Amino acid sequence: MADSTVVSNTENLLKYLSLDQKGRVLAEYVWIDAEGGVRSKTKTLPKAVSSVDELPEWNFDGSSTGQAPGDNSDVYIRPVAIFPDPFRQGDNILVLCETWDSDGSPNKFNHRHEAAKLMETHASQHFWFGLEQEYTLLGQDGWPYGWPKGGFPGPQGPYYCGVGTGKVYCRDIVEAHYKACLYSGINISGINAEVMPAQWEYQVGPCEGIQMGDHLWMSRFLLHRVAEEFGVSISFHPKPIPGDWNGAGLHTNVSNDATREEGGMKAIEAAMKKLEARHVEHIAVYGEGNEERLTGRHETGNIDKFSYGVADRGGSIRIPRQVAKDGKGYFEDRRPASNADPYQVTGIIVETLCGGAN
Ligand code: ADP
Ligand code: MN
Ligand code: MN
Ligand code: MN
Ligand code: MN
Repeated sequence: MADSTVVSNTENLLKYLSLDQKGRVLAEYVWIDAEGGVRSKTKTLPKAVSSVDELPEWNFDGSSTGQAPGDNSDVYIRPVAIFPDPFRQGDNILVLCETWDSDGSPNKFNHRHEAAKLMETHASQHFWFGLEQEYTLLGQDGWPYGWPKGGFPGPQGPYYCGVGTGKVYCRDIVEAHYKACLYSGINISGINAEVMPAQWEYQVGPCEGIQMGDHLWMSRFLLHRVAEEFGVSISFHPKPIPGDWNGAGLHTNVSNDATREEGGMKAIEAAMKKLEARHVEHIAVYGEGNEERLTGRHETGNIDKFSYGVADRGGSIRIPRQVAKDGKGYFEDRRPASNADPYQVTGIIVETLCGGAN
């Protein structure tokens, strides 16, 4: 799939990948950068580890990532979660990190710290989240993969959950990512091809509390990393192609003890009132460029107006038909854009429904 400018010799590489590491272990430290992307670098460890407490704090040059000024450039990376590394395998690991400034405060782009406090404070409510991550695959020219050069494919219709040549693109990358997520222990719950060709979705969840953001961020790292091997890039832009093409979202499914127990519909109705009152605050952290996507068309609600309904895909929030029927369950916040930070999204939902952190 990669074109001739990509130099990759898998057969030769395999010989080296299988060399004995002599007991030492590679830890890929991963962090979130200033652009909502991910960065990573590798540390050799003397032996295998089984918990984040065994891992040293590390640092990076924040002036090279827009996360710190040049005259005070050290940003600290603090391990918060470990995942098996599907690329290097064996005892090698991926290490998700929080970013911290040298004065002991969380880095401006560390949204996990605040979210973790909120989740901790309201842990007794047992918040579960399920995220639907939509994304677009781009070829080396920056145009959606498989689209005619500088042109457009036929109108939307055959592509959603499509099967067959000309209806789906990059299934190989999608499958590779799915397997990589499973290997790493990501709670990935499904995949589907989307309405716009070269756009796909995967779901992660249900996950409780802060684990939602951790798993989603690591799944994004895996997606970028897998696609890199195929010479394809991943866009999380909420409206990659203007016009009559669906945008990309991060639908956020939410429940807690109150919504899941008998009569939970009452708690869901109460939640709608609270969410309506803070619509503007939510939109502010639901992703950049979301105004291009939330137009009230293409299965979205209008960005300026909160609305909800049963089985309504044109509202801010959808209550699934089955939930209305059962009188309990979860609701789907359809507003977050594909590029939103899941820590901010899940954090503000807990804050709006239950109040701030202690
Ligand atoms: P859609 O019909 O909107 O495309 P999906 O099947 O893609 O729905 O995603 C629904 C997601 O809802 C699932 O991935 C799952 O993780 C999540 N979910 C299911 N039950 C709950 C629940 N009780 N609380 C939170 N999330 C849930
Ligand atoms: Mn250096
Ligand atoms: Mn979905
Ligand atoms: Mn979708
Ligand atoms: Mn959805």
